[in-house]
Amino acid sequence: MADAQDVLSLCKRRGFLYPSFEIYGGVAGMYDYGPLGTALKNNIIEIWRRLYTLGEGFVEIDSETIGPEVVFKASGHVDEFADKMVKCKACEEPYRADHLVKDLHPNAGALGEKEIDDLIRSNNVVCPACGGELSTVEEFNLMFKTIIGPGSGRVGYMRPETAQGIFVNFPNLYRYNREKLPLGVIQVGRGYRNEISPRQGIIRLREFNMMECELFVDPEDKTWPRFGDVSSETLRLLANDGRELEITVGDAVEQGVICNQVLAYFMWFTQEFLKAVGVDGERLRFRQHEKEEMAHYAADCWDAESFLSYGWTEIVGIADRGCWDLSRHANFSGVEMTSFKRFDEPREVERDRIKPRYDKLGPMYKAKAGKIGKAMEEADPAAIADGAITVEVDGERIAIPGELFDVARVKEKVSGVRSVPHVIEPSHGLDRIIYTVLEHAYSQKDDQTVMRLSPTVAPIKVGVFPLMARDELDDMAMDLDQELRYGGIETYYDDSGSIGRRYARMDEVGTPFCITVDYRTREDGTVTLRERDTSSQIRVRFADVLNVVRAALCGADLTQFVVEE
Ligand code: AMP
Repeated sequence: MADAQDVLSLCKRRGFLYPSFEIYGGVAGMYDYGPLGTALKNNIIEIWRRLYTLGEGFVEIDSETIGPEVVFKASGHVDEFADKMVKCKACEEPYRADHLVKDLHPNAGALGEKEIDDLIRSNNVVCPACGGELSTVEEFNLMFKTIIGPGSGRVGYMRPETAQGIFVNFPNLYRYNREKLPLGVIQVGRGYRNEISPRQGIIRLREFNMMECELFVDPEDKTWPRFGDVSSETLRLLANDGRELEITVGDAVEQGVICNQVLAYFMWFTQEFLKAVGVDGERLRFRQHEKEEMAHYAADCWDAESFLSYGWTEIVGIADRGCWDLSRHANFSGVEMTSFKRFDEPREVERDRIKPRYDKLGPMYKAKAGKIGKAMEEADPAAIADGAITVEVDGERIAIPGELFDVARVKEKVSGVRSVPHVIEPSHGLDRIIYTVLEHAYSQKDDQTVMRLSPTVAPIKVGVFPLMARDELDDMAMDLDQELRYGGIETYYDDSGSIGRRYARMDEVGTPFCITVDYRTREDGTVTLRERDTSSQIRVRFADVLNVVRAALCGADLTQFVVEE
């Protein structure tokens, strides 16, 4: 298996990743993508985006990365988004407390402060750097705080995930979708988490890239139209009862291992996406969250994990979040966050209604009594608190005491029902996916490193070489290079060093094909096309190269293009 240090040093040397602010000594948990890393990242994003938008008909938005405090109060991040931290009393180095005891407990991440503290004391855990005594465990909120505007004191936060930008836009997006569910919304962008002690390259960053999808569904209907198409596909699961299963998507739902069709379908969808960009299916599984690990509102939650030199690592989280997010934003904003499901036929229902006592309202509220009465009739009796119902009239909130109304059971015809949609969320850590793709592609052939990147994500698709940088071979190769680039194919022109060295340079950055223009090209107008993983070579016509490359990148059979010796 590839070693993370080897992968990271190749990434730095060949322009995939650079430690940020390196000339100033760098900052832990911060990396820049170099030219090849940026191209790889964009290719992965594009595949993901197309699967969701073209494949599933979802829409994409791009929301703010800074938000006012109330958004993150509502989302729970201000009060809950914290990790447990200890500091060394001698050298002051901070640590994730659960990471220090991970070998002492099977699921240290789910432990409380006191339990971790007890483990540290009873096992004499000390500072890994200097052996010093550790402080007691405390909570550390991971959000970056800021102030919005000059001197206003309006607290804001850098978003710790892109999801909230989608939730707060739900009323707009629901309207955009012509008030229909399901409604799938995706977003690609940065998230910010002030991680306590980031290590492990780009696995744990303080500013990282996310690709998130929030799928709003009818809470009463968690079936999925294309579920039948994938129900015989297989998933590798590690359930929270300890069972390891290779199970079909259909059986997983039928046996209650995965709680509903939508979640199961998007687990399969995630698996296919990950395999398409080059995650090795043999080193991929879905781990169900332990009961204590799962957010209290989540109906079910699975992490797609890839096996890396760091061990099994979460790369995507897929959760059924119920109505939590929209309900919270409705409560905090006062804006309704519901969808309306129209019945085929109006239905008669029995329900409680507030009946204002107009005889008493009139003398008390005079001219306003009519408006107040109407607001009371529309109010939900469930909102009666301490015997009073509060209504809003002309911007004023008025608490109406119980003696001014009755609650009566009435029969009514209703045309539909309002409810708060449920959310299924596949949330992808893009940097972790990129690292997985790089580590899984890393291989050695005859002492050379070969990155077996899939042609769809490879930053450079074709290396173009003249055998010699003279005798018109270079001019022909440059023409070919330009033709390919104008045809939308990323190339790398290289005329220095031996052909073997040039192949090796391209292998190292995962370029799937190389084309060489040689003396025979001048005679018969053919060039050599070499494939990275097999090193096999075929001869094709110069004039056909663009089509050959397009076919090769799709994995098509190239026999029809081969020119006999
Ligand atoms: P979460 O919202 O915590 O489930 O995070 C969603 C995804 O983002 C995870 O599955 C990870 O792949 C990724 N992720 C979370 N935290 C970080 C981080 N600090 N650096 C890089 N990726 C992260």
